[in-house]
Amino acid sequence: MTSPEHTMVGILGAIALGLHKRFGWSVVAFAAVASNVPDWDGLPMLFDMGRFESGHRVWGHNLVLIVATSVVLGWTQTRFEWIQRLGVYAVKFLPNEVKFSQQPPKLLAPMPVLILVGIGFQSVHLVCDMVVSGGQGLSDWLVKPFWPFGNTGFVYPLIRWGDVGPTVIMMAGLILVAKFGRAQFVAVLTFVGLISYLFCRSYWI
Ligand SMILES: [Zn+2]
Repeated sequence: MTSPEHTMVGILGAIALGLHKRFGWSVVAFAAVASNVPDWDGLPMLFDMGRFESGHRVWGHNLVLIVATSVVLGWTQTRFEWIQRLGVYAVKFLPNEVKFSQQPPKLLAPMPVLILVGIGFQSVHLVCDMVVSGGQGLSDWLVKPFWPFGNTGFVYPLIRWGDVGPTVIMMAGLILVAKFGRAQFVAVLTFVGLISYLFCRSYWI
């Protein structure tokens, strides 16, 4: 899956679970960040493609690193509230027409919840990478969740990498949430649509 798709999985997933009602918008943003974290192992390739190719989808895509990074993210968010700081910064770039009529009440997720959200959405990232794989001359990419202790790779390709379907479905879900509300219901419905699409599409590839 691409980064925008992982981001939307995080946002819609947190809303579908109703986390926004209990812990406010910051936990939704936190889930969106966590949903992308395993892909940090692709960053070194920006500097040296050949040398670091073997690490992509391995170093960050395993349960040991998922737990470790979730603890770091959860602790730093509780201590420094970096999601809120980034939010204040991001608001400066919104067009003037966007106004916040009232300050939302400050809801904060406790650290254990943040760590669980981190582990949960990073694990979902692995599943997404297993079901969206191959295509465009690429071979299926095995995900090795037990690395470095086990080298067994898993993949269950339902659609090809680059298929626009998931983006279209999740964008539509987010637009519906923004326009009509009923966020949790729409988010659940979006996932029903997305999962149905994945399985239907796998028959037509
Ligand atoms: Zn990935």
